[in-house]
Amino acid sequence: MIKAALIDMDGVLYNSMKYHTLAWQRLMQEQGVPCSQEEFYLYEGMTGRATINLLFEKHLGRSATCEECDRLYGMKSEYFREYGKIETIPGTDRVMQRLRESGLQRVLVTGSAQGSLLDRIDSDYPGVFLPGMRVTARDVTHGKPHPEPYLAGARKARVSPQECIVIENAPLGVQSGHAAGCTTIAVCTGPVPQRAMYEAGADYVFADMDSLATMLPSILENKP
Ligand code: CA
Repeated sequence: MIKAALIDMDGVLYNSMKYHTLAWQRLMQEQGVPCSQEEFYLYEGMTGRATINLLFEKHLGRSATCEECDRLYGMKSEYFREYGKIETIPGTDRVMQRLRESGLQRVLVTGSAQGSLLDRIDSDYPGVFLPGMRVTARDVTHGKPHPEPYLAGARKARVSPQECIVIENAPLGVQSGHAAGCTTIAVCTGPVPQRAMYEAGADYVFADMDSLATMLPSILENKP
């Protein structure tokens, strides 16, 4: 029986990934790290610290210091904020409505620590997430693709991971939910192809949120 939905933020609640990837590319190029905008879609779900370390080790041959991680992630967050108001994803409100109608608990599970989005969720999605029902980058030691974020999400809902569905848009996030033992739903809201979601372990893959909203009742019925 599915009792809770564990819901990613960027690319699921908000059409924000384009601006995250632009902010990361600008930041890293300023550090002398060669990178493309597209590669950051593949790092989506990792914490900021993990992303910085990955690129530093790959291109500079060393890890970043804690001071560098804090400073650079702060700069990246500021660049992101400069892009202005980020839109919600079409159809996500319908998915959230269906989850509420089905009586599922909802827990936010994000690798982000971006205050400019986290602070907006309660006004953009009123009543979806009850107080305390969120896991962010600040709550975990290991970000996605490690299972820790989704295991922490299941604990918040006081249910087992097998009683949870995960709603994701990124391969590393799908890997995290799958490794945690959840039923994992991927929605391709960005440029990453459906095939990559299945390869990451997704149980269901949808082209957009409206398609998921339509099919969600039958997915939940098939998980008695
Ligand atoms: Ca995401």
